[in-house]
Amino acid sequence: MNQTLPNTYQYIIAGGGMAGLSLAFYLNKSLLKNESILIIDRDVKQANDHTWCFWEKEVSPFEDIIYRKWNGLWFYGKEDFARFMDIEEYTYKMLRGEDFYQYIIPLLKQNPNISFLQADIEKINGTTTSAEVLTNKGTFIANGFVFDSITVSSFNKPNYHNMLQHFKGWIIETAQPSFEPQKPTLFDFRIAQQNECRFVYVLPHSTTKALVEFTVFSDNLLDEASYNNALKQYIQEVLKIDDYRITEIESGVIPMSDEPQVISPSPKVIRIGTAGGYVKASTGYSFQRSQRFLQKLVSDLALAHTTNKPIVFQGNFNTNRWKALLDSILLNVMLHKRMPADMIFTKLFQSNRPADVLKFLDEDSTIWQDILLMQSVPTLPFIMGAKSVVSAKLY
Ligand SMILES: Cc1cc2nc3c(=O)[nH]c(=O)nc-3n(C[C@H](O)[C@H](O)[C@H](O)COP(=O)(O)OP(=O)(O)OC[C@H]3O[C@@H](n4cnc5c(N)ncnc54)[C@H](O)[C@@H]3O)c2cc1C
Repeated sequence: MNQTLPNTYQYIIAGGGMAGLSLAFYLNKSLLKNESILIIDRDVKQANDHTWCFWEKEVSPFEDIIYRKWNGLWFYGKEDFARFMDIEEYTYKMLRGEDFYQYIIPLLKQNPNISFLQADIEKINGTTTSAEVLTNKGTFIANGFVFDSITVSSFNKPNYHNMLQHFKGWIIETAQPSFEPQKPTLFDFRIAQQNECRFVYVLPHSTTKALVEFTVFSDNLLDEASYNNALKQYIQEVLKIDDYRITEIESGVIPMSDEPQVISPSPKVIRIGTAGGYVKASTGYSFQRSQRFLQKLVSDLALAHTTNKPIVFQGNFNTNRWKALLDSILLNVMLHKRMPADMIFTKLFQSNRPADVLKFLDEDSTIWQDILLMQSVPTLPFIMGAKSVVSAKLY
């Protein structure tokens, strides 16, 4: 049993990564900041283990620690289509994991009601009245909720579309100026597609430093040498850089899936982050969605608290069936290779205002705007995808 911490809390956050710490950040800004909160993670959360990128019109709650931001992005697509795109009302932002943890953890530690525990979580159990978290340092009870960001589904149910976004990135430094700091690359499809969706993005930190990341959407991971070779080849052949050193490496696998998630396995346990199905199925982005969903979760909790009514929890906030249907169709088209993904993205960015494509990918557009935008891609593969999704009774 842990000797220094009480064992009962109002809220326990299981997993203090992006979603767990963001949730604590919003709780700490709300009237619920006086509730007792325990955040449990096996790591100390100091390493730069993620680089989060996202686009938005607004000022971010994390604006002070945004590492780089840009008003335009390069797109390199099929058939020699290349455009530096002004993204107008949007700003593309990069937040480094290291900066996020160093900002948020000391801030939360200033609140005497928030405790941290470094421990391995072994199990989360819920009853109708409370929930408990079993760790290698003892058992902790939540009278309010356990917010679980560690129980990620295996995404293997038949009939659903399960793809993976897998990637490896190197932060490289060059002796000579090699990058334009104001001109990052969002998508570069000028690499062998191998009958999959493969692209590289380049996020410059300065004229001599950039994150170069090779990304694949597919249902199979590659061996380590394949990621390394793709990066080496891109740096040499496309960026034309021979002399560089790798200063940091990041890699990861993000589920891209339309499989419904169990968001609340028992009344006092709520899954958040990737575990809560916050990842946008067709793009793998989740930072910005997580911020939206978690702000909504905290406002629902605060409302329930002030009105003294139980929170009516309705799933993962991603209840827009139309947007979910579009995600499934796009996944179906990619998985069944009905149309090459590099061509889909090329058509989208070639024929539309780039900011409208970002708006669409961010689920901020209306149905009519979506229909207009979809007219820029050949309809047959998408009609076949839609038929397949509907006949599988996913909707
Ligand atoms: C390298 C990488 C880069 C990404 N880049 C982007 C991006 O640019 N934009 C974007 O929108 N999305 C991005 N994503 C996707 C997504 O935003 C991240 O995966 C995000 O971190 C998910 O947040 P989370 O809280 O669900 O998971 P995490 O941030 O991984 O947090 C989970 C936490 O739980 C802890 N944990 C897990 N199991 C246990 C256990 N048994 N006991 C104790 N602790 C445990 C982990 O240590 C971790 O801190 C990226 C993902 C990766 C992997």
